[in-house]
Amino acid sequence: MDQMNPKFLLDGMLGSLARWLRICGYDAEYVQSLPDDELLDRATKGGSVLLTRDDLLFRKAQRAGLDAFIVVGDGDAERLASVARRFHLELNPDSSRCPVCGGSLSQVDKDELTGKVPARTLEAYDEFRVCDSCGKVFWRGSHWKNIQATIDEARELAALTSRESEQDL
Ligand SMILES: [Zn+2]
Repeated sequence: MDQMNPKFLLDGMLGSLARWLRICGYDAEYVQSLPDDELLDRATKGGSVLLTRDDLLFRKAQRAGLDAFIVVGDGDAERLASVARRFHLELNPDSSRCPVCGGSLSQVDKDELTGKVPARTLEAYDEFRVCDSCGKVFWRGSHWKNIQATIDEARELAALTSRESEQDL
């Protein structure tokens, strides 16, 4: 595993977490429904860390010699924090990947978006990014406050649990 830049493969229960990891710039592949054996095979071939909440799948991954982690927590922020703490991830949306497909995002000029984005949106915002893989256009609209709040919460939770476990030592 590349310590600085781990690749993640998430099982079918963790689609939402995959999106949050992508928003924070991480390579997070999400497979909706794949038999365990094929999922493990995919993680092995891709050199990915398997993220799951399934004890049985986790044990199978360990037996296969894979790097795997059981995600804890109930909400998005808690789950994101648990992964961030385990793998020492910075949670920063400035290096965001496409939340839909995980592709990389490039800045795009407003002029190129006429007809692709509603005119009112083009008027209201200045920065737009487009996914190099699926072509979807992103901007930090009214929903952005909520996204930033969840990331801030996850970052605080990750720092908090780090301190608690240090006290345990
Ligand atoms: Zn995309």
